[in-house]
Amino acid sequence: MAEANNNFFVDMHCHIDLFKDPFGAILSAERAHVYTIAVTNAPFVFENTAELVATSRYVRAAAGLHPELVGSHGHQIDELRPLLDQTRYVGEIGLDYTTLDQGLRQKQRLVFGRALEWCAEYSDKIVTLHSRRASADVISMVGSGFNGKAILHWFSGTKKEVQRAANLGFYFSVNPAMSQSKKGQSLIAAMPIERVLTESDGPLVGIGQNSQLHPADVKLAVQDISALWRVSFDEAQSRICENFRTIVDDRSTPFQDFLGQPM
Ligand SMILES: [Zn+2]
Repeated sequence: MAEANNNFFVDMHCHIDLFKDPFGAILSAERAHVYTIAVTNAPFVFENTAELVATSRYVRAAAGLHPELVGSHGHQIDELRPLLDQTRYVGEIGLDYTTLDQGLRQKQRLVFGRALEWCAEYSDKIVTLHSRRASADVISMVGSGFNGKAILHWFSGTKKEVQRAANLGFYFSVNPAMSQSKKGQSLIAAMPIERVLTESDGPLVGIGQNSQLHPADVKLAVQDISALWRVSFDEAQSRICENFRTIVDDRSTPFQDFLGQPM
């Protein structure tokens, strides 16, 4: 595969709307050529994010309902349905079992299950998944029959679960906080290289002096991944670009599906 066009980066999970200066974050993605999925945490903020990124070549808005907001915003689940006509990207959705409240966990599963059912009505959804302390259930609920593409964002389960998810066709998006931790590194080493993507999870994630990661900071993850793979930075970058081309199912440059909304 020619590598001349693999001169870009990918941020599969960034909370653009949570930056103090969202336009600055978008501009930095444009300048650094970072294809970015701007996840949203609840249906009522989607419109604003879609407007923010409307003229961007590199950033696309995703519709979601974050599991940690199910307690306060779970009633908005029906509002997610029509948004799925407006974007190919879905997230942040999933489960978060840091809550010990069994009723709330059940409600999270209901909301997540509903979102997955709606995604299945299309055949091309790209879904970015939250799975903190709930990886087994998230993997099972997406399961083997999902007709879109599933990405486990900042996966923190076990190596066995990495294998299970990989066998089911899942992708993984790795951020610098993950790639700089021992546990994260052992999980990344267990991931098939053709399923590895990068993310910033900005502005919610920071490392060292950099308290809010921006899309362009995915380069730090590429650096760490290249060391784990024992390849050059350029080779790791190119591999991740190929993985991105595969997940968006587009060999063209620039990517057709990144040219306009809705897709
Ligand atoms: Zn997130």
